[in-house]
Amino acid sequence: MKVIAVNAGSSSLKFQLLQMPEEIELASGIVERIGKSDAIFQMKFNGEKHKLVLEILNHKDAADIVIKNLLDYGVIKDLKEINGVGHRIVQGGETFKDSVLVTDEVIKQISDLSDLAPLHNPANVTGILSFKEVLNEVPHVAVFDTTFHQTMEPINYLYATPYEWYENHKVRKYGFHGTSHQYVSHRAAEILNNPKAKIVVAHIGNGASLSAVKDLKSVNTSMGLTPLDGLPMGTRSGAIDPAILGYIAKKENMSLEEVLEALNKKSGYLGVSGLSNDSRDLEEAIKQGHERAKLAIDLQVKSIVNYIAQYYVELGGLDAICFTAGIGENASDFREQIVEKLAPLGVILDKEANKLRGERLISTPESKVKVFIIPTNEEVMIARDVLRVGFQA
Ligand code: AMP
Repeated sequence: MKVIAVNAGSSSLKFQLLQMPEEIELASGIVERIGKSDAIFQMKFNGEKHKLVLEILNHKDAADIVIKNLLDYGVIKDLKEINGVGHRIVQGGETFKDSVLVTDEVIKQISDLSDLAPLHNPANVTGILSFKEVLNEVPHVAVFDTTFHQTMEPINYLYATPYEWYENHKVRKYGFHGTSHQYVSHRAAEILNNPKAKIVVAHIGNGASLSAVKDLKSVNTSMGLTPLDGLPMGTRSGAIDPAILGYIAKKENMSLEEVLEALNKKSGYLGVSGLSNDSRDLEEAIKQGHERAKLAIDLQVKSIVNYIAQYYVELGGLDAICFTAGIGENASDFREQIVEKLAPLGVILDKEANKLRGERLISTPESKVKVFIIPTNEEVMIARDVLRVGFQA
């Protein structure tokens, strides 16, 4: 059967069509600049890339364009070949402990969680409604970024803020990138042949988070109420002293929203280096001796090392550390910097293996903790849940 995984943002829509249960990617792509007369549709199929620039006014039009192109390029011959749709939803709050079949009630609940994810959940709902119009006779399943972390205990999800903030407004740590942390940790446990393994997943892309996983369950993670918390990222600051908000608002005569925008969009790699949010640009600049580019990377490396050391203690030791996502999978110098700093934990990098790509062990046989590169695959995780939840007997 064929399943389409959909990830709708405010002005973009990513999709991947998979052959299931074989987990084979048939086609993938993105619609960008939704709402504009020069929107962009791009699709990869059969090793070829296709690109169109056209007017796409809303998400419903974007969904139509995706289906039309899947048909036009012969990826599918008939709409009926698509048996299910999986939707990536950012915030499931405490409402959703697992992926669910989409119903009118579920759509309302996802909408009701928009206060906690104002940039994401409304766009996710628009994606659901658009694809439901186009593919209305097949199961739609909502897969949340947060559910994998719902196994955290209060000691790891509560902030030491007034308890009423939690009771009345659900202020707590939720964690994100859950499908990725789940996919990678479960794959590591499979490689280790140990479902009880103690694992740290370092998902380091433009957004970045770490998780501590034991018995295939998330015990702790670095992101918080929102994806702003945790380590410094491409454009996000990660955790800072919250008093900075009020201080800078006053000094720079900015509103709280403007300060938050700067912490989300003008901080991290971009903010510290003053150059770019892209790790490849920073790597180039470092070669030219750019001090602040080095500092931007060093700040993130230090934070990652601190989280790994913390999780080592929390889990009572570690069986494996897994690197994943754009930077984690590709940036070998970056991984080397991190693993070298973990020497006190007995972690030893195999420098030759670390230069390679793809799923592999990159620690030496003597290393007390195994280190892996495990490419993430959030779409496969979503498609698996469409099968598991959408086709229950
Ligand atoms: P993601 O958010 O997972 O797509 O990751 C985006 C980040 O991965 C960007 O900072 C990219 O520079 C980085 N990235 C992607 N490919 C490479 C690569 N080959 N080497 C180094 N960094 C990479």
